Amino acid sequence: MKITVAEHAGFCFGVRRAAQTLENALEQARPGECVCTLGHLIHNEVYNERMRERGVLTVTESDLPSLAAQATAERPVSVLIRAHGIPITTRRTLERFASENPHFCYLDCTCPYVEKIHRIASQNSPDAVGEDTVFLVMGSADHPEVQGFVSCFEGEKYVFSTAEALAEAFRKETIVNLHKRTPVFAAQTTFHLYEWKKSLEILKNLCTNARIFDTICSVTEKRQAEAAALAQTHDLMIVIGGRESSNTRKLYHICREFCPDTIWIERADELKTQNINPFSHRQVGIVAGASTPADVIEEVHKTMSEHAENFAAMLEESLKTLNTGDTVTGYVTAVTDAELQLDLGAKVTGVIKAEQITDDTSVKLTEMFKIGDAVEAFVIRVSDVDGVAELSKKRVDSDKNRQKIIAAKDTDEILTGKVIEIVKGGVIVLVDSVKVFVPASQTGVPKNGNMDELKGQTVKFKIIEIKDGGKKAIGSIRVVAREERKARETEFWATIEEGKHYTGTVKSMTSYGAFVDLGCGVDGMVHMSELSWKRIKNPAEVVSVGDEITVFVKSFDAEKKRISLGYKTEESNPWNIFKSNFAIGDIAAVTIVSMMPFGAFAEIVDGVDGLIHISQIAQTRIAKPADVLELGQVVDAKIIDIDDEKQKVSLSIRALLEEAQAAAEAMPEEEAAPADAE
Ligand code: SF4
Repeated sequence: MKITVAEHAGFCFGVRRAAQTLENALEQARPGECVCTLGHLIHNEVYNERMRERGVLTVTESDLPSLAAQATAERPVSVLIRAHGIPITTRRTLERFASENPHFCYLDCTCPYVEKIHRIASQNSPDAVGEDTVFLVMGSADHPEVQGFVSCFEGEKYVFSTAEALAEAFRKETIVNLHKRTPVFAAQTTFHLYEWKKSLEILKNLCTNARIFDTICSVTEKRQAEAAALAQTHDLMIVIGGRESSNTRKLYHICREFCPDTIWIERADELKTQNINPFSHRQVGIVAGASTPADVIEEVHKTMSEHAENFAAMLEESLKTLNTGDTVTGYVTAVTDAELQLDLGAKVTGVIKAEQITDDTSVKLTEMFKIGDAVEAFVIRVSDVDGVAELSKKRVDSDKNRQKIIAAKDTDEILTGKVIEIVKGGVIVLVDSVKVFVPASQTGVPKNGNMDELKGQTVKFKIIEIKDGGKKAIGSIRVVAREERKARETEFWATIEEGKHYTGTVKSMTSYGAFVDLGCGVDGMVHMSELSWKRIKNPAEVVSVGDEITVFVKSFDAEKKRISLGYKTEESNPWNIFKSNFAIGDIAAVTIVSMMPFGAFAEIVDGVDGLIHISQIAQTRIAKPADVLELGQVVDAKIIDIDDEKQKVSLSIRALLEEAQAAAEAMPEEEAAPADAE
């Protein structure tokens, strides 16, 4: 922390002069003499307290008559006029009492700069110059200094606290006939320089005949300029001065404008209650009002210096000395996919390479960490020369997580990890930076199966063995898979019911049916007769191994774990399909599928054949169906009978031939002629 005290800080010329006058008065005071100040000599409570302790009384104008009346040779009275002066009427009162009583006197400590404004006011009053002058003052109307010097102007006078207030008065023509009058323009000695300059611009634009007196004290100017400069380059500004001090208040506002962390104190012990942060307040500036005693400034400086030294010592002490093997916590200050940098609160910077964070090379550090994250790590090596401590997060994680892994065996917990490596005899699963070996027999991959397929997969497993005092952990994926299958199986048997549909996979086939895996380690069997409505000789005519099919439960025995499944459904029943599409009298395009001596069988829809009796094949008598028909021939036939019970259909070609003949015979000759001709 660097502390800068402003060059122009503390008692100004006028205040020092007043304080010295009081000091002299106290030293030269006769026994019993009463030394008083008319109001506070200066605006600083620390100073005033000290004066009170030395017997100095602070009196008001109303106390003067009694003081003057009581002043005697044994108890003379001396009244000091403060640095910022008093109104002319008060001065006249003092003069009168002093002339009337030789044991009453007053000492004028009015600052010469203030006295000068008193003179300006009095010498520019209308009667003194023989002109219609008006006194315009920039300052605080209630400040004793302003009240003092405006009282010397015997004419119309106005006090403005800001340039805007002056402009407003001009706009509203508050000052009657200003353009015909002569403004006398002055300022309180401690008025804000910037506001004064703005006021001058406003005045000069409107009044060409103004008499301008720049009465701002040069001490004030310098202090304000220096405060502004310091505030622009410092992190913390401390303004020291009395709460009633006008020039201190202005210093405070100037500093605040440039430095948000500005504090206003009257004495050093107030620093204890201020929120001074040595980390962010590296550059501290100290300014002080014109009425601040030098020792108060020195005390503040000393307190701040001690604070800085203590902090430096604390900081030095707090900077950890790192040793190899320590476990430390740091905060991420930089992150790339190659490494992390950590602030360890130590003299060295912590660095963790990617390989010291995880064995999973697919992980991106920039996605895992962000600036400010707290990271616990193990110190591998410290190099004071390079200013770097090499760290390992993996080591800490591994130690910590290894305990969790050991505990997981006892609690039979299911863990989740990623298969990162295929090794001889099994695979390596990484879980929270700990490597767990899963033997091939525990991977769930069938014997002679390809374990490579597991690489990169996230798997669930259990710890089945801990070796070498916790250094080696053996896991099993198969155990978890088996337990999960068992749970699914239990759930299956608890919910199975006749008629319930399942989607399963044809697992194997025999000559009498197909076995279907219902997806939870439970198989059911579809008998050949349940596979198709048609008569089939082998299940392979309908399904193949690996087919995914929808089946339903025809019956089951939960104890013997047997399930009879159905595959064919009423919706796929050929008789139902036929019935929903055909009726007696309909004509169907049928295919001749077999021939018998008594007739021919023809397929109407898949799975439903009809008989065309030999007598229904032609209009004339035939010896055998093959005289007219041949296998595979598609012919139109009329459905002449349906036996629902026996599921038999009678067809007739002859019926159609007769209908055609009858229609032809019924046709008029001329319509039939072309046919005849042909
Ligand atoms: S600030 Fe200026 S005007 Fe006021 S007392 Fe000090 S020297 Fe005098």
